[in-house]
Amino acid sequence: MLRTHTCGELTVKNVGEEVVLAGWVQSIRDHGGLVFVDLRDRYGITQLVYSPQENEKLESAVKSLKNESVIRIKGKVVKRPPETVNKKIKTGEIEVKIEEIEILNFSKPLPFEIGSTSCGEEIRLKYRYLDMRREKFMENIIKRSKFTHYVREFLHGENFVEVETPILTKSTPEGARDFLVPSRLNPGKFYALPQSPQLFKQLIMIGGLDKYFQIARCFRDEDLRADRQPEFTQIDIEMSFINEDDVISLVERMIKFSVEKLLGIEIEIPFKRIDYNKSLELYGTDSPDLRIGLEMEDLTDTFINTESEILKRIIKSGGKIKGMKIEEGEKISLKEIENLNQFVKERGGEGIGWIRFTDSGIQSPLKRYIKNEEIEDLKGRLKISPGNLLLFLGGEREWVNKTLGEIRVHLGKKLFSDDKNLNFVWIVNFPLFEYNQEEKRLQTKHHPFTSPVEEDIPIIEKEPLKVRARAYDLILNGIEIGGGSIRINKRDLQEKIFKMIGLKEEEYRERFGFLLEALEYGAPPHGGIAIGLDRLIMILLGEETIREVMLFPKTQKGICPLTDAPSSVEEWQLKENRIKVDILQKK
Ligand code: ASP
Repeated sequence: MLRTHTCGELTVKNVGEEVVLAGWVQSIRDHGGLVFVDLRDRYGITQLVYSPQENEKLESAVKSLKNESVIRIKGKVVKRPPETVNKKIKTGEIEVKIEEIEILNFSKPLPFEIGSTSCGEEIRLKYRYLDMRREKFMENIIKRSKFTHYVREFLHGENFVEVETPILTKSTPEGARDFLVPSRLNPGKFYALPQSPQLFKQLIMIGGLDKYFQIARCFRDEDLRADRQPEFTQIDIEMSFINEDDVISLVERMIKFSVEKLLGIEIEIPFKRIDYNKSLELYGTDSPDLRIGLEMEDLTDTFINTESEILKRIIKSGGKIKGMKIEEGEKISLKEIENLNQFVKERGGEGIGWIRFTDSGIQSPLKRYIKNEEIEDLKGRLKISPGNLLLFLGGEREWVNKTLGEIRVHLGKKLFSDDKNLNFVWIVNFPLFEYNQEEKRLQTKHHPFTSPVEEDIPIIEKEPLKVRARAYDLILNGIEIGGGSIRINKRDLQEKIFKMIGLKEEEYRERFGFLLEALEYGAPPHGGIAIGLDRLIMILLGEETIREVMLFPKTQKGICPLTDAPSSVEEWQLKENRIKVDILQKK
């Protein structure tokens, strides 16, 4: 070992000992008579002190030190004078008197100050190994490692077997494009990187392993809008001879176990479950943030005999009027309401309606159209008290839900931002299919291996949009962190679903023939889930982006600024793979 101790462990108990430390020079303070150096490693910071009077030989070495150089020193642990004690750190009561110093590696002037994030992200990604020295980021990476350790501990305790599945494989559809890898040995053919281990984990169940898990890397070639990465990690789970409740309960217990260990807080289980449709009606989304105490209410009935021409027109054309009561109405100013009005108009709506309830009646731009009985109805329905503000919106149902849902989230940031709790909720009872307007065809809401609810099987062809899926999603603070389902375990049903989503027999045989065949050799009932590890850790650690919990993420353009991937390759490499690159120039 090049050191006797780390920089985070010496205390008054070590006073008088000769020690050897190694680490990075965090800062140098030259006080004329004395030079102080903060030496840092992963474990902490230790103050070194050097006095030129006592040890002249070292003066030039100490004076030549630069921040972030790596050094090794030998010295004696001494107690700090009381006025310089730093209670905030473990080593704050001692310092080490430098007796010997060895510079292991000088550091050039840095491209940015360690710990600073104001320099822009691209430069931090280019020098990620320097950015890693930022305390919070390093802590994030270590906590991530601990978390996966707890997950493994829990799952092994439940008799799960951890395996690896191929990275060079065939397409596993999860709704994105595949990343392709040419096969030199099979010219003209390509592997696809897995969008998830979905089909392998099903085959593993058919093989009889019963309980599978994997901390699995997934690859999805998507436009990197929002907070996405082309490669990311899932806690991937599959089980046999189970139903929805078994998977849900396992995940709840896994999260409770691992999060409690990581953060030392209490997680209450079971988590709430909400039906997909109800979630859309109440929150306008299937990933609701329930920390936001606002719910949407259908007010179409209240206004059925309205005198407002606008509302009348909306209701007549089959639209809905939906509202949201805000308890602390005074927190929303007229200016804020005007902004919301603009927001609604930009989305093609008529604008936002509002009523402020006061001790002496109501305020509202629609006041002269609103009848007393409507006010009374609203008061009863929404349990209105003075000070409340009602916002409402009319239009086609889905549009109203979505738009008012967005307003809910927007206002939630303002009204409920103090809530730092973790709010987990399951969304259940999804439809199996949804209609893809652009492609004019049905598609599955989850992946096509999801089982329909048994009793809905007879209506698959007649009323596909009414068929319910045996699927469940897990939402944390308004962000989807996982999803899964009970799978189809019979060939004929699986083929039927492929046909329903517009695949021809040749197509699905060519793509999924191996799965269909496996479903004919004793496929047990099975199901599972995948939890997005990056997103979950991001929320647990209070970060705003998954890049703060990933060591080497890519930019929005899918580029790694550190390695410069993706890059061109040599002509001979292309030849070996029988590939001709023909980049179409845009005119
Ligand atoms: N393979 C699915 C996904 O990646 C998860 C699952 O159904 O288990 O979303």
